[in-house]
Amino acid sequence: MQRRLSSISDCRVFFDFDNTLTPFDVLDDIVKRFSINKGWVSFEQAWKKGKIGSQACLEGQLRSVRVNRKDLVRYLSRIKIDPTFHKFFAMLKKEGLSPIILSDSFKFIIEEILKNNGIREVKVYANGLRFSGNRLAPFFPYRNQKCPRCAHCKKKNLLKKEVKDKIIMYVGDGLSDICPAECSDIVFAKGRLLRHFRDKKRLCVAFNSIEDIHNYFRGLGK
Ligand SMILES: [Mg+2]
Repeated sequence: MQRRLSSISDCRVFFDFDNTLTPFDVLDDIVKRFSINKGWVSFEQAWKKGKIGSQACLEGQLRSVRVNRKDLVRYLSRIKIDPTFHKFFAMLKKEGLSPIILSDSFKFIIEEILKNNGIREVKVYANGLRFSGNRLAPFFPYRNQKCPRCAHCKKKNLLKKEVKDKIIMYVGDGLSDICPAECSDIVFAKGRLLRHFRDKKRLCVAFNSIEDIHNYFRGLGK
């Protein structure tokens, strides 16, 4: 936290998606649920050990996934986002703020879940997905050629949206959140991101659910 925060209206608000707005990693679940073999496991392990970046991991994992658009849409219709996000989103809207989602998953999946949960007007930056029968073909419009770690370089998109005099707020949990969070003024972290910030002795606010963040801002100015 490098700048003083007195109101949420001072912020530019960014969210990760999986495990931040959803109760579990939806993309991981899709890969496990719809794979025809266990080929995804070795990609997951290689990615966790830092041997491959997330683009190679996603491309490898999706090669063994078989699901058509209709069945994927049906599966996604059951996913519920964090129930407090509606309240928090309304609070942001009241302040004239539009949150932005930065994800290393796929835009189609995220927009489908948001739509099903009645959330509109949220800009989503994520990887692309094309359907070909029951095969999923990923594409990556936001890669950083100089850094192989993430398929979507969230940091680049975050900095593109930077506005002078606005405090950048980032909410996330995973490896792909480290770079954008390190460029942010106020960070809400859990999971891997929280461990990273604690290891580096950097300031952040630990959270479990969006309710914690909602309460944090309700407490400001009191
Ligand atoms: Mg996440």
